[in-house]
Amino acid sequence: MTDSSSTSTGSLTVISGPTAVGKGTVVQRLRAEHPELVVSISATTRPARPGERHGHDYWFVTDDEFDQLIASDGLLEWASVHGSARYGTPRRPVQDATSEGRTVLLEIDLQGARQVRQALPNAQFIFLTPPSWEELVRRLTDRDTETPEQQARRLETARVELADAQEFDHVVVNGQIEETVTELVGLLGLCTHST
Ligand code: 5GP
Repeated sequence: MTDSSSTSTGSLTVISGPTAVGKGTVVQRLRAEHPELVVSISATTRPARPGERHGHDYWFVTDDEFDQLIASDGLLEWASVHGSARYGTPRRPVQDATSEGRTVLLEIDLQGARQVRQALPNAQFIFLTPPSWEELVRRLTDRDTETPEQQARRLETARVELADAQEFDHVVVNGQIEETVTELVGLLGLCTHST
């Protein structure tokens, strides 16, 4: 365990976890309740899902644009996730926000988390885990956004990722969302609201 996420220039926290564990929902809640938190917007080559907005959920880019981001060293980390699309963290906004003393959160996969650890070992690393394997399978099948083949591939990745949770500074079980958010607010060092 390390408690060295804070630097004189703000702090950077990485949150990872298997597919369907609820990272998106948790991060949405943190974002809504703590507008002072800077949540990094990733670039991705996957198409937008209904309701997703360019520049809010992701920067949706072409393969060529993604190649250019890599070539210009514009990404802090990047990875091909679930054997399909590429995802990466634009470097500049993270640098700017941390140098302004802000608290920055990256929601990325395990391969990306490892790259950030190499580049920025003082960052804080949190792994979000489900209460059980059965619950993870249920969450993935209930949300019904992937084909059965895609679900099977995501679960394959999830098994490997769960086995690597001990690489992280903190493991947070995402059972009740309220409790998860409270725990993360504490780990991120965000001020709790009095109301
Ligand atoms: P989804 O397609 O469901 O939005 O995201 C799929 C996976 O990509 C999630 O596990 C998410 O954590 C990961 N991901 C999203 N943005 C990034 C990123 O910038 N870098 C990396 N390495 N993974 C990302």
